[in-house]
Amino acid sequence: MKRISDKYQIFDKNEVEILAEQLESGKLSGTSVAIQDYEDDLSQFFDAKFAVAVSSGTAAIQVALFSLGLSKGDKVMLTPTCPMMTVYPIIFAGLVPVFVDTEADSFGFDIEDVVKKFDSKVRAVIDIPMWGYPMDVKKRQEFCHSHDLLYILDLAQAHGSKFGGKYLSKYCDVACFSTHDRKILSTGEGGFILTDDRQTAESAKSFTQFGFMKGVDFGLNYKLGALQATIGKNRLKQVNSQLVKRKENSDLLRSLIKNNSVSEFKITERGTANYYTYLLSLRFKDNLGFIKYLEEKGIPSDITRYSYLPLYELPAFLEYGTVCANAELLSKTITTIPVHPGITVDDIQYIAECINLYEER
Ligand SMILES: *Cc1c(COP(=O)(O)O)cnc(C)c1O
Repeated sequence: MKRISDKYQIFDKNEVEILAEQLESGKLSGTSVAIQDYEDDLSQFFDAKFAVAVSSGTAAIQVALFSLGLSKGDKVMLTPTCPMMTVYPIIFAGLVPVFVDTEADSFGFDIEDVVKKFDSKVRAVIDIPMWGYPMDVKKRQEFCHSHDLLYILDLAQAHGSKFGGKYLSKYCDVACFSTHDRKILSTGEGGFILTDDRQTAESAKSFTQFGFMKGVDFGLNYKLGALQATIGKNRLKQVNSQLVKRKENSDLLRSLIKNNSVSEFKITERGTANYYTYLLSLRFKDNLGFIKYLEEKGIPSDITRYSYLPLYELPAFLEYGTVCANAELLSKTITTIPVHPGITVDDIQYIAECINLYEER
């Protein structure tokens, strides 16, 4: 039986040489010039004033919370459709996560619910464009700034996603990225933050290096290693061609799907998706039945891989329980389809055929 992989395996034989060169230089730590080089390329690519490379996406979120000056007891609002990796750093920093609803048809926070659940302890809101499907970040940035709230984006799945023709990271105080091996830009493990604010960038950099070891400012070691930075620098060059291929695959898949119970998840007006995966909205009586049928056909879904639920339904987050009606419905009416550059035209035809042949009993 056919097995569709949900992981894009990059192999570039130049990287063996690039790594050898870095090894020969003898400079492997997170303060090597290779890091600065990589950060320069990141800020240029994403049109950000500053980039700080860090050891993971989770570290990026911790760095963002610290560098924005959030402190113990402050509340941070976020949508429960995100993965647990967005919430754990909030809790670890002594902050209190407050789950707010999404819109009915996007992963963006519901402004009305933020207003309803707001109190004087709330300092920041995090939006998480899952699978790279953008929300109207402009509207939300304006809302946050007029209410004296910080706006953070967790763009771990959204490298290259845009709003109004600009990268999502242009619309927030700090954007957090992961470069874990499953993400569009991979360094194996790793991450980075982007910001246009010099003081935030300096505070972030300092935090990743023990406060520059001056014994004044608090810090930990969240540096990215030099070998990973050289890989990141090299792979950044193929992000755009990857996005083109992902879009081609998605366009073909969309044109072949003829099943009235599914359609592509709505892309917010003025938004551009990066097609980290293709996201389907499902209108079956038993959506999970459809997802399991696709799995039996060798087509994997993130929904079952990660037991996708509004987070407050998981034991670790029960104490933050609340009601987010849109998020609850949204999480039960979607599934992901791999469209990375390793997926062939044959694969896409097979996937579409499986979707089209499905009849709910
Ligand atoms: C992958 C991911 C993270 C965590 O990144 P790591 O590099 O694995 O620590 C955080 N948030 C989202 C939305 C992610 O997809």
